[in-house]
Amino acid sequence: MSHVHPTAAAAPRAPLITAERVNKHFGPAHVLRDVTTAFYEGEVAVIVGASGSGKSTFLRTLNRLEKHDSGRIVVDGIELDDSVRNLDAIRREVGMVFQQFNLFPHLTALENVSLAPRKVRKAPREEANRAALEILTRVGLQDHAHKHPHQLSGGQQQRVAIARSLAMQPKVLLFDEPTSALDPEMINEVLDVMKDLAAAGMTMVVVTHEMRFAREAGDRILFFDQGSILQEAAPDPFFDDQQHPRIRAFLGQIE
Ligand code: ADP
Ligand code: MG
Repeated sequence: MSHVHPTAAAAPRAPLITAERVNKHFGPAHVLRDVTTAFYEGEVAVIVGASGSGKSTFLRTLNRLEKHDSGRIVVDGIELDDSVRNLDAIRREVGMVFQQFNLFPHLTALENVSLAPRKVRKAPREEANRAALEILTRVGLQDHAHKHPHQLSGGQQQRVAIARSLAMQPKVLLFDEPTSALDPEMINEVLDVMKDLAAAGMTMVVVTHEMRFAREAGDRILFFDQGSILQEAAPDPFFDDQQHPRIRAFLGQIE
């Protein structure tokens, strides 16, 4: 499954998300330092870097799970600020998938997926269920729709979590180490679903340690180091012609 890479020759694309000199402190710790980047429609951006380098915090600022201290974040033309209306609009456009799947244990897969469309979008039950089943089919879980999370494997639960995000028809999906909590034999079924989404044109920002995924599905790699983006590069130069000693050391440890 090869992802269609936007070519350099294509017309200039509008960024879906821009971050401009974003800073974040936790008490005395300065965990995001002037982070500036942009994410484009249809792009798969992969964020890598050592533990504690600020990857999760950055991802979480993009939908206001963390509030940035200074700088600007604009999502699809909407400024991420203290306006509740802006935040609601942005949360509708930005889906997030976590390491821990965070499914509701007392709801079936189908109910987990149809819940937000019913509550937030006020979709009628039948319509929401039909759409949910369609999405569960897309992630290969049509036969598990009526199971509860504890009856599903970790890989299946994470696919339900992805389906749940998709149900809100987000413009961009953020993934924070979506396979880190999984047994090794379940990692690929989740990565395959993510590759399918990428191939279908979904805009994705993915924090991961899965370097093969980064190489195969990523359009761009961002390397975080101590709260800053130390390098942004296409996968080929990033992995095959890496000059930066710190990034070389990181890749040497992880691959
Ligand atoms: P990564 O995802 O790259 O491992 P994080 O964004 O989770 O890094 O963390 C960056 C830094 O911020 C770390 O030093 C971490 O300990 C600190 N940190 C993260 N979340 C909090 C929090 N809620 N309160 C205090 N410190 C935090
Ligand atoms: Mg993290």
